[in-house]
Amino acid sequence: RRIREAQRQLRGVKLQYSDEETIFFDDVAGIGDAKFELQEVVDFFTRPARFKASGSKVPRGVLLCGPPGTGKTLLARAVAGEAGEAFLSINASEFVEMFVGVGAARVRDLFSTARSMAPAILFVDEIDSVGRTRGGAQGNDERDQTLNQLLTEMDGFSTEAQVIVMAASNRKDVLDSALIRPGRFDRIVYVDVPDFHGRIDILRVHLDRREWDAAGIDLHALSLETRNYSGARLANLVNMAATAAGQRAHSVITMEDMERALELERLGPTRSPYSDVARRRLALVEGATSVLATLLPAIEPVTKATIVVRETYPLGHTVVENSEQRELTHVYTRRYLEEQMLLVLAGRAAEEAAYGAEGMSTLCQRRVAMARRIANKMVVSNAMTSAVGPRLVAHPDGPGDEMDLFVTRFIPVDVAETVDRTISEVMTRAYTASLAMVRRNFAAIEAVADLLMEKNTVNGDEVRRLVLKHGCAEDLAFRE
Ligand code: ADP
Repeated sequence: RRIREAQRQLRGVKLQYSDEETIFFDDVAGIGDAKFELQEVVDFFTRPARFKASGSKVPRGVLLCGPPGTGKTLLARAVAGEAGEAFLSINASEFVEMFVGVGAARVRDLFSTARSMAPAILFVDEIDSVGRTRGGAQGNDERDQTLNQLLTEMDGFSTEAQVIVMAASNRKDVLDSALIRPGRFDRIVYVDVPDFHGRIDILRVHLDRREWDAAGIDLHALSLETRNYSGARLANLVNMAATAAGQRAHSVITMEDMERALELERLGPTRSPYSDVARRRLALVEGATSVLATLLPAIEPVTKATIVVRETYPLGHTVVENSEQRELTHVYTRRYLEEQMLLVLAGRAAEEAAYGAEGMSTLCQRRVAMARRIANKMVVSNAMTSAVGPRLVAHPDGPGDEMDLFVTRFIPVDVAETVDRTISEVMTRAYTASLAMVRRNFAAIEAVADLLMEKNTVNGDEVRRLVLKHGCAEDLAFRE
């Protein structure tokens, strides 16, 4: 009833309440630090005595900062759930879409409703849409007025008012500094995409809402496959897997469903296959890539190669095992980078071996670009060649991955030429080595390509078996 009353007062501004489904801290996974910090807000409501005793300042506003989909809204709802209080939420962009003067009035209404419902949590999503720095060349009167009203309301709370304002923003840098002054949003909680263990926890939270094959689903492997995924993206993945299970008329989600969902999510739906001539070319490219990955000592074992083409990625691909260690450190030896260059050029080398120099195509364009990036990393960013050495060839404060415009204006022409020549030498050497290795192992590559033509996808064991059977003895020995 309180809710309906509030909605009437607010004449159409949409409010969401947690009564559909109450969220608790247990529903939010992988961001333990943020939960720990927000426990204080919960204590403010549920244990006022203890809160006062601890000498904490009464929180007024809490700003949750972080990329989209990382669980900021979920966290705010969980705070309300844990505290057992009302949760009012609004998207700040709704204020700005209104007629001049109306935004400020809406803010007034919203705060008065929140006060009448106290104790309550008022959540303002996307606060950057009203909270950007005021004035300036592109000043926006309506937005400024709305923001001023918001500041006035927050200042007007007495210390006894049992209302806490929580807000979320993807970009703290654009926020008006007045917003983060003491007495306003004076707590800032950062929420980032989850790490390796966080992703496992989030997947488990979402899987636990359904039936899933706990023995068969390898959360460790899935977490390695989903680096940089937000919580929302992981939740979506589990939804897609549930759909895939449903299509098989199964209620239990299996590892296969999860893998299918991953591919679908990342690469889009499959599209109709190409002609056999084109498929053969794809099969040779992936055959070469998977065979070289198997033979190169520093490269991780192949898990699969496929020539199933996708809407958003109309090429085949080869996948190697992910290692947790590599993800955590991002440290690559020169040896590893060199082998990686051989590997990404293997497809192009296979085209040359099979169709001659005239028969190369644009199919491997992305991989050639990738090889160039690796060469750049070695020569420019990490000073791994003696020809260029430690000379300043990238912005001194930048990540140093590109020879960028800043630098090309300041370095002597001969240094730029040396860099260019060295990168090209590094790439040529890698391509020559890749082509030689492809030629030596062409029987194995053709065998994998034949199998790909037949089955579209092959796994790592199948590739290894064919390499052992047809591979060149010299490269096989190298492997040991
Ligand atoms: P944000 O507000 O940061 O954009 P949301 O809180 O709206 O993100 O997240 C959207 C959905 O993604 C949530 O409803 C939830 O299903 C899922 N999600 C995001 N982060 C997490 C998390 N840390 N733990 C569990 N689920 C999450």
